[in-house]
Amino acid sequence: MIATDEPGRNGLLVAGVDVGGTKTSVVVTDDRDRILYEHVLPTDPSSLVGQIVGLVEGARRQLRQDVTAVGVAIPGHVDPEDGSVSMAVNLGITHLPLGPMLQAELGVPIFVEHDARAAALWLSEQAADGSAQAPASVAFLAIGTGISAGVVLDGTLLRGDNSFAGEVGHIVADPDGVICACGLRGCLETIAAGPAIGRQADETIAAGRSTILSPHSSAADVFRASSLGDEVALEITDRVADHLARAIRSLVLTLGVKRVVVGGGVAAAGPALLEPIQSHIARERAVSPLVQAALGDATVELLSPTEAPVARGAAAIARHRIGLPDHRIGLPVREGVGER
Ligand SMILES: [Zn+2]
Repeated sequence: MIATDEPGRNGLLVAGVDVGGTKTSVVVTDDRDRILYEHVLPTDPSSLVGQIVGLVEGARRQLRQDVTAVGVAIPGHVDPEDGSVSMAVNLGITHLPLGPMLQAELGVPIFVEHDARAAALWLSEQAADGSAQAPASVAFLAIGTGISAGVVLDGTLLRGDNSFAGEVGHIVADPDGVICACGLRGCLETIAAGPAIGRQADETIAAGRSTILSPHSSAADVFRASSLGDEVALEITDRVADHLARAIRSLVLTLGVKRVVVGGGVAAAGPALLEPIQSHIARERAVSPLVQAALGDATVELLSPTEAPVARGAAAIARHRIGLPDHRIGLPVREGVGER
């Protein structure tokens, strides 16, 4: 928990909440996007609303100042107009009117957004910060309990007519693979999301392969073992990286973005994840002039684990939606409902 006593005025404060499959965090930011408070808890899917209310009330108490609005970023199918979330398969949510429920408890405007989209918005604004240029295009690929992408294209946050834009976790990766939480077979999530990486370790252990991994290993354990040269862990890491490289290629080819940022809990593995992804991309570039031309000088970067782009993006969305002035230089990303 961090709470700073900033001298002078901070302007009106907003809170941003990141509801993840394993962790839920809150940040409170001022009108210059400075973090005044942050706190994180393990996600309690049985009491999601109560947990978010508790986090925001804790921030209010600690800062001895109210927040003007709250942005909540959550995976699943989000309707930013009515604040509802549906089909958040990794949180066990079928349909939840999250925004109205939180507004009734907290008494301030609540704005709900898809988690990867909130992060993409914040990353794009960061890139534009300090310049008068329009925000750059960026794709944020979140790899955690699930996988999805948030995209800002030519300065506009993409939602799509169906609000499913960026749900790359459910594109087919292995037609003969295992059944996904969404009901389909062989989605990217069944290979490269955190629980899938642990499952593949268990499968190889059950098959009697020799490895330093123990049963019920996490994705982080697998990446650690691959750094130590464990054959089984290296094979799993290579397969995961191969599929993520293909997903990144698909994002670049479909959207024309030149910047892909990889984040989420699994990305905390750092170079143990990024390096094999980069080498698969380099292989694709080497064999395909088309991929080489499309990727050009595109960058694939890992987000620092110390950043909180989802919660900060949620706070930025709350700031924009209630029309608070933004005192940073640079143009805010257009994220109005219905704009694409
Ligand atoms: Zn799926």
